[in-house]
Order: sequence, then structure tokens, then C-alpha cells
Amino acid sequence: MARAYLDWNATAPLRPQARAAMIAACELRGNPSSVHAEGRAARALIERARAEVAALVGAEARRVIFTSGATEANTLALTPRIELGSDRRPRDLLLVSAIEHPSVRCGGRFPPGSLEEVPVTAGGAVDLAALESRLAALSRAGSRVLVSIMLANNESGVVQPIQNAAEMIHAAGGLLHVDAVQAAGRIPCAMDALGADLLSLSSHKLGGPKGAGALIVRTEALHLADPLIRGGGQERGSRAGTEAVAALAGFGAAAAAACGALAEEHRQVSLLRDRFESELRRVSPDAVVFGADAERLPNTTLFAVPGVKADTAVIALDLEGVAVSSGAACSSGKVQPSHVLAAMGFGPARAKSAIRVSLGHSTTESEVDQCINAWKKVYKTLHKGSEGIAA
Ligand code: PMP
Repeated sequence: MARAYLDWNATAPLRPQARAAMIAACELRGNPSSVHAEGRAARALIERARAEVAALVGAEARRVIFTSGATEANTLALTPRIELGSDRRPRDLLLVSAIEHPSVRCGGRFPPGSLEEVPVTAGGAVDLAALESRLAALSRAGSRVLVSIMLANNESGVVQPIQNAAEMIHAAGGLLHVDAVQAAGRIPCAMDALGADLLSLSSHKLGGPKGAGALIVRTEALHLADPLIRGGGQERGSRAGTEAVAALAGFGAAAAAACGALAEEHRQVSLLRDRFESELRRVSPDAVVFGADAERLPNTTLFAVPGVKADTAVIALDLEGVAVSSGAACSSGKVQPSHVLAAMGFGPARAKSAIRVSLGHSTTESEVDQCINAWKKVYKTLHKGSEGIAA
């Protein structure tokens, strides 16, 4: 049986352009830091990838720092030691939204006492009123804040009001880091339009290989004074170590492909998502789609049916050849209730029922139909078993 892969927010299949670029890069022998022809050929691939990644977010190529992924990019960004021009005083507080990825929620390199969470609304967007009043109080107290808010949430797909947040943060003298991992390649991510000072990307979410990412810094004046990895002077001193040439070439090619096809892929994917959601509601009228009234990514549906446990449903769907995930955070096999749904005000019973279906540019109508047909079966079985059980 052909499988339907509908878990693109976990990781996207490799784009053919990325595969081709990686295979070509594997043929190169040189170290990109070497001055000879072999070295210069490897360097050229990296600089091309840098320009391609920069173009995806409307930045200058030299503002891109390549990393091993977004977890590293987030950790590199979230440091008290961000200097702005001649202002070298450290940032004393990190504010993060309550729905950030764990690599942001853990606070990067800020001491645990210097980390605060900003709540989100029931609709899943950061609470701008709460952010504004907290920023005002902090600014009166002379605090120097760094704020981290994602552009789109990985579980709900809800797009965050970054432009509005950026204005408030800058007015209060703060800096803004944006985790754009789930948004990149799906919606426009121009750094200037967003007002982001720092922005993180992950290669594997947009069809590049796993194990590559980038932190993009808005201006030359912003300087990360404490690199995570020190050694050789690679990445202009911001990230030492011989570059992963093939992975970066694949990342660049994926970014270029995603950038060129953004509008078309958006149109195509949102049609499939709408088809999925209307069938979902027809098959299971008691299904609740989280963030349904909010602005969402075109590819993501997070839903729950009262009484149907997500982990059981995900296994049952897998047996039917459909790969989706539970909204709950799962690492090393340990499933925990989603902090995203908890922050949106849903109790643990609802959070344990959340199933995420996420599509991508090569998803087909027949994959969506396969998922719906499988869901019909699973819903019938699991829902029957849950009758009489309170949600
Ligand atoms: N941020 C978000 C929003 C993510 O979804 C992920 C991946 N799950 C990451 C950061 C981490 O990215 P990477 O896998 O490249 O470390």
C-alpha cells in the first residue's frame, strides 16, 4: 500500500533540487577555507547557498550565519551578549511567547531567572496587550530585553502578529528574535517587513537536508559577542568548524526552490488543506480545529475529537498507511501534553486528543483522500469506544 506522508511540520521530504545540489557537492574535494582551486570551488557553493537562503528572507547574504539547524540558531541568538553598535551592555531579560519551540522556551544562554513567558490568546496568537504592558513596565524599570516570538506555530500553524509585536518591542528599546522555521517557504518571511532583528531557519522544514540551518542578523551593527562554537574563523567568527558543504548546498537549493514557487505552492496546499478540513468535519462533525478562526499556515490542521486519544489515533492511522502526528510534544518516545494547547487554555484531556495533519507542496489529492478514508475507519472504531466518556 502506498503511504500518505502528512507530517511535513515534523520534517519535509527532500526537494529534488536539494538532492541534486547535494550530490554535485559531494564530488568536490576541497575545504572551503583553502585558497587553491579545489577550496575555492567548495567556497563558491557555500556562498551561493548563502545568497539563496538570504533571498528567502530578503536579507543581505553576508548577514547569514550557517548552523547545524534551528535549534543551534535559536541557541546562538538567545544570548544576553548581543551588542548593538557601540552599546555593549548585556540584555538582562528574555521574553518568549508561551508557545515557542522547546529550543526557545529553554531560554538559550540566559540564566533561568532571566526568562519570562508572554501568554497567548485562546486563538493561539501572542497576547499583544499583555506584551505591551509588560514591555512598558520593563522599559520604565530600565530593563534591556530580548524578545523571541515564532512566526508560525509548529503545532497549530497559527501565524503570529510579528509586525505589531516588533513595533512595540523596538519602541521599548528591545530586540526581536523570530523563529521562522515553520513559516519559511510557506508564507512570506521578509525580515524588514516583519521587523525582525534576528531570524532562525531550518533546512529540513523547507525541503533541504536535516542538520543545517541559519541565523540571519538584520544589520551589521548587531553583533553576537559570544559564539557558541569557537575555533577557526568560519562564518565570520560566529560559528567555527569546517562547513557542511553538501548540506548547505542542499539547504540553498531548497530555499531557492521554495522561494520561487511560494505563491503557487501556497495556493495548491491551502486548497488541499481546505478539502481535508471540510471532509474532516463531514466525517466527524464533533471535530474541533484549533486556531480555526486565526490566520494560519496554509498547510496545517490541528484538530481533536472529544474522547478520541491522539496517540491511539496516530498509531491506527499509521497502520492504515497514513503518517500524521499527535499535537503533543514527543521526544525520546515520551509523550507529554502539548504546552501550546495548554497556553491556549485547553485542559489536558483536550490536549491529549490533538492530532496534527500537515501537508506540503508535493502532497496529492489522493494522499488527502487516503487520510480521510483512514480517518473514517479510525473515527468509527475509536469514537464508538469512547461513547459515554467525558472529553
Ligand atoms: N523551531 C521550530 C518552530 C521547529 O518546529 C523546530 C523543529 N521541530 C525547530 C525550531 C528546531 O529545528 P531543527 O530541527 O533544525 O533543530
